[in-house]
Amino acid sequence: MKKTEFCPICRKKNPSEFDHKNEFTIWKCSGCDLLWTPDVSEDILREFYSKSYFKSQHHIFGYSNYIEDEETLRINARYILSEFPEFKNRLPKMLDIGCAYGFLLDEARKLGWGTEGLEFSTEATNYAVNKLNLNVSTGSIMQANFPENSFDIVTMIGVIEHLADPIAAIRKINKILKLGGYLAITTINTKGFVRLFDLKPPEHTFYFSAKNLSLLLKTENFKVMKSLPYWCFYNLNEALDRAFRLIFKSSKRIEEFLGKFPFLKYPVKVPTNEMFVLARKIK
Ligand SMILES: [Zn+2]
Repeated sequence: MKKTEFCPICRKKNPSEFDHKNEFTIWKCSGCDLLWTPDVSEDILREFYSKSYFKSQHHIFGYSNYIEDEETLRINARYILSEFPEFKNRLPKMLDIGCAYGFLLDEARKLGWGTEGLEFSTEATNYAVNKLNLNVSTGSIMQANFPENSFDIVTMIGVIEHLADPIAAIRKINKILKLGGYLAITTINTKGFVRLFDLKPPEHTFYFSAKNLSLLLKTENFKVMKSLPYWCFYNLNEALDRAFRLIFKSSKRIEEFLGKFPFLKYPVKVPTNEMFVLARKIK
């Protein structure tokens, strides 16, 4: 068992046991309100994502069918890319950590950016490499061997809440970014507009607020440039399904009741509990 004597972000002593779920304990810091599960190792995560995470039948974990949502995911990808300042004299080199099927990287490549990806799921890596011809490898940021000062942009879109040790990951990202390079993160904000979220270890290990995520970034030599609510597009089907399963704790997907109507594939902008944070390496 890892030490839980103090909060990994604000270092306040004696966090309390907040909840127990799926045989894991979720801890809460009274100083910065971080919720986290310290006992999820990378081995547990490797096992978890080796299953069909992106085409999941599980009522809580994973995505129902990630590929079917491609069009919507690409809309979100283009929004994320539009949040970066313009690179005037040269095109940036980007690393997407937890890149899934590679839609964000593919959209960045269309802008002429240099692109590399890392992904835990081999199924998703295979798609990115074989179908989209992207430079993506399977593995975690902690194992990866990138040279220092080699990227202009690192992205973690809906990823940091899945990591075994996000603090170590942020520290490593600082090393591989160039000075002045950007880190973009989207994740659940526990103090966000919509405060409905499931505690679901081992899928989600860390629950941040805008405040404690900013504190973490500052501590690790980043300057926070933007911290915004991330209201992204979902297919109507996925949006209804997530709301339905969250509210009714249902083990069935909504399409089992309604069937698959074409209008349910319509992309809708949803007020989510997520935030978008853009930070710059200053040291
Ligand atoms: Zn704390």
